[in-house]
Amino acid sequence: MVGEGPCYGIIWAPWRMKYIEEGAGRRDESSCVFCEAPRKDDREALILYRGRHSYIILNKYPYNTAHTMVVPYRHVPSLEDLTREELSEMIIAVKAVLEATRREYKPHGFNVGVNIGEAAGAGIAGHVHIHVVPRWCGDANFTFTVGGVKVMPETLDRTYERLKPVVEEACKNKCALR
Ligand SMILES: [Zn+2]
Repeated sequence: MVGEGPCYGIIWAPWRMKYIEEGAGRRDESSCVFCEAPRKDDREALILYRGRHSYIILNKYPYNTAHTMVVPYRHVPSLEDLTREELSEMIIAVKAVLEATRREYKPHGFNVGVNIGEAAGAGIAGHVHIHVVPRWCGDANFTFTVGGVKVMPETLDRTYERLKPVVEEACKNKCALR
């Protein structure tokens, strides 16, 4: 879902191998990480917001800093399995995440995408989810520069603390989610 261009390149994220390996062999609801997450508390699961039909979660194995996902509560493999209500809420949640992330992290762009099926690169193919990945010019390098300042990847805890309040605000005030 990321490509080559004048300003961006493919992000190398070797820590994602653990995620892919953990996902291997987990194809039913009983052992699905996206079904399990809402049963934990927000902080433990890295859940940023809970809607009526879907939730917003920080990706534990991110492609980039502040990589989030919008996930329906129902365990279904594809967008065409979702109801109109679920789809509506999820795209509004994407809007809220874009607004919140843009405000807090000032990215130069975003990749928003859905991988449907293992052949398309879905790590957890049984439970559809929408990726929101902020992009900065030069972020394909290990460290990159924004406004003369070198940017280092931050910890998930720090990202969670920064994003949680702005995502909540965007969901409640601007998007009237829930
Ligand atoms: Zn699931």
